[in-house]
Amino acid sequence: MNTKKLWKKMTGAFVCLVMAGTLFGCESGSAGTQTATADTAESTESASAAASEKVVLLIDPGHDSAHPGATGIGGVKEEDLTLQVGEMLKEELQQYSNVEVYMTRETSACPYPDAGGSVEDNRARCAYAEEIGADFMISLHFNSGSGDESANGSMILVQNTNYEPTYNQMGQELGGMILSNLSSLGFANKGFQTKDMTDDVEPEQQTYPDGSRSDYYAILHHAKLHHVPAVIVEHGFITNQEDLNRINGTDNLQKLADADAQAIVTYFGLVK
Ligand SMILES: [Zn+2]
Repeated sequence: MNTKKLWKKMTGAFVCLVMAGTLFGCESGSAGTQTATADTAESTESASAAASEKVVLLIDPGHDSAHPGATGIGGVKEEDLTLQVGEMLKEELQQYSNVEVYMTRETSACPYPDAGGSVEDNRARCAYAEEIGADFMISLHFNSGSGDESANGSMILVQNTNYEPTYNQMGQELGGMILSNLSSLGFANKGFQTKDMTDDVEPEQQTYPDGSRSDYYAILHHAKLHHVPAVIVEHGFITNQEDLNRINGTDNLQKLADADAQAIVTYFGLVK
């Protein structure tokens, strides 16, 4: 599968949602720069995208037991929730005929125990995305308010407009559908965020091969280097009681997986 193939026609313009405030939690981010684009892009769907070809998706349950994420109210652990939603999402998507679904992990263990820190772990997950020819990588997360119990809502972290400029728009299209579905479940829609790499890393980490500023978040950064569009789905805050009430428990997690799945099915035109 051609990893650069764009599967979805760009439809309509996106409203530029300006987000103030801080990006909390597991990604250790500070305020991101909103880069929503308002252009209507033409489809660049490959002429070789025959109907018989399958969409290749990589589901990434964020974190693992060696790289723990956020801890929420009552000790709920992000890495456990992402794995549960990931497994449910896989089950849902596998009901469709024109898709191949892969997972970066299916147990609590780190899939790349020799990789090192979380950046290296995420880099290995992105290398896997290219290896399988992924058309999209969907990284599943839950957020933390880092002491602010009022922080709430869903947000999608998308790749910036540098180096592989179409990925930003693709992320907003798929991400917008996910946010809409999560909003229907009661989560506040906090929109999209991008964040460029900071100055406190090695110079070669600060830019893409074309010299443009790289993405800060490791999954988004390294997925782009491996030529894979990616989004990080921050479903909600496990440090906020109202969000957690919509997250905790098997029934709720299934609803989150269904929200993600329905968006993916629509975006990629999956059929049973
Ligand atoms: Zn996370």
